[in-house]
Amino acid sequence: MEIKRISIFNEFNCIAEDCPTSCCRNIWKIPIDSDVYAKYRNEKGIWGLLLRCFTVKRRGVITFRNTSRGCPFWGMDHLCSIQKRHGSSYMPAVCIQFPRRLYNLKFFCEETLYLACPEAARLFLASAAGDRPFEFTVSEGSVSYEVNTTNDDREFLDYLLKARDELIMMLERGISFDNMAILHYGQDSQNACLGQTPLPSPQDYESREHYQMTCEKIDTWLFNGFYYPKLRTISPLLYQLCRKYIRKFGSQGRRNPRTANQKLAVLLENLYGKIPDLEIILNRYYEYYLLTDFLEIYEDYSFSKHLLFGIAKTHLLRLFLALYAEDQETINPHEIATVMAVFEQKAQRIYSAIS
Ligand code: SF4
Repeated sequence: MEIKRISIFNEFNCIAEDCPTSCCRNIWKIPIDSDVYAKYRNEKGIWGLLLRCFTVKRRGVITFRNTSRGCPFWGMDHLCSIQKRHGSSYMPAVCIQFPRRLYNLKFFCEETLYLACPEAARLFLASAAGDRPFEFTVSEGSVSYEVNTTNDDREFLDYLLKARDELIMMLERGISFDNMAILHYGQDSQNACLGQTPLPSPQDYESREHYQMTCEKIDTWLFNGFYYPKLRTISPLLYQLCRKYIRKFGSQGRRNPRTANQKLAVLLENLYGKIPDLEIILNRYYEYYLLTDFLEIYEDYSFSKHLLFGIAKTHLLRLFLALYAEDQETINPHEIATVMAVFEQKAQRIYSAIS
């Protein structure tokens, strides 16, 4: 098995109690492996009782029972009480792996980091600011994690790898993440799949137009599952930023669209003065998205949706950074990483609103 590992992967170390937005503070459905659950069932005393009380079995899957502050075993000291007491052998595999993304495509695996972790986001930003490429180092070996695809069309997978490289080359040449050439390529590729005609090359596309972000589009992305009442306790920072957006721009139907979009343009423009490298960061963020998510097209052939999802994510990241920085003179890399991580923790919820 060929294992491809992204450059920042080996640099990662969990910062534990120093983490500004711990992964344990979220409402995840953490599956508990059967061997780990067997340990919980055999554990004696109060501790065993707690382990069994805070696990639940639904549709054959055993998970932790979340509390309003996230994982029930996330202690007041901001450390995992299971790990403290028993070490990582008592922890579910997902908890040990996070934020490592282990993507097994049968012919090869790609190992990257989820930016939903602020430390991973910090490593991403350091590479972007240092103009270091995100490269995969390749090794041979075997992996214990499961296969993530049902497709076995190697030719299509090789096409996707080549197309991804070409899209990244376009970004490196200075084409912006929201250039319409990317979406035109996505549309044509999707049509080619449907019509079973030859797939195009991204390099053949160019455009002077950019995908326009408006308050109407933001509303669609934010208010169809992304912003929900529990956000207030699960992700207070993200909740505050969403509330700030609502206060500032009002709700659809109660605002003048033209005035709201002008206000939005001013808000975003002001951010460039506070983060001089903003354009570079956004383009590298989209590049990283292509590296981690583009191959998901192998599973559903949805070129347009995946490419647009990355653009929507990048636009929303800029919006949240702008809202965060609005009342400050500057915003430092630590703050950028925190906003990026809290956004990434919930960003997948936008996917269903993309059309
Ligand atoms: S989010 Fe990252 S740094 Fe923070 S506790 Fe989780 S793994 Fe560690």
